[in-house]
Amino acid sequence: MLAFRAMAEARIALVEDEPDLAEVLRFNLAKAGFEVDVIPRGDLALEEVRRRPPQLILLDLMLPGLDGLEVTRALKRDPATARIPLVMLTAKAEEVDRIVGLELGADDYIPKPFSPREVVLRIRAVLRRHAGEPEAEARLEAGGIVLDTAAHRSEVNGVEIPLTATEFRLLRILMERRGRVQSRARLLADVWGYAEDVDSRTVDTHVRRLRRKLGPEADRLETVIGVGYRLQG
Ligand code: CA
Repeated sequence: MLAFRAMAEARIALVEDEPDLAEVLRFNLAKAGFEVDVIPRGDLALEEVRRRPPQLILLDLMLPGLDGLEVTRALKRDPATARIPLVMLTAKAEEVDRIVGLELGADDYIPKPFSPREVVLRIRAVLRRHAGEPEAEARLEAGGIVLDTAAHRSEVNGVEIPLTATEFRLLRILMERRGRVQSRARLLADVWGYAEDVDSRTVDTHVRRLRRKLGPEADRLETVIGVGYRLQG
């Protein structure tokens, strides 16, 4: 009941410049119980989100004003908006790698064409994941890696490293379960909130980026061939 109430109150900023597509999405999201603000331009989206932060941003990649990548970068740079979950809509399959590979911090992406039902399911998964994040927890340490989950800070050998929301969650789960192998499916479920099979390259891409950021401590994040990943404590 609580979950349902939280869901019904979630407000989504839908940033999409194609009126027909925006209307189909708005209609289906409203039917699913979400409040939806449709914003047709990237620059306006930035203003609106800063003025009245939504619970989630559903963002098209190709937009007039500022494109989706520029909007994402600006939002993730600003501490006031950095933690708002952001789901990207992409027109082309090849854009997906670009989005996942860039230092952007989108929480999920949905390739076009998509069914409105799929969009609703993905949004629920992202919101559930965010709602499930504990506000405060112990400080986690593995060698030179320190995570302060309450302050959302990460350090390697005393130097703060900037992690995206997804990278932080991934590292936190690996640290909480250090020494134990985590399969890609397990990580997809626990970090991304997916119950079903989703392309597990998402996990590999994020692990690669995380390793780069861990620098001298990168070797702690081991690949267990054919299984998944493990963080050595
Ligand atoms: Ca567009």
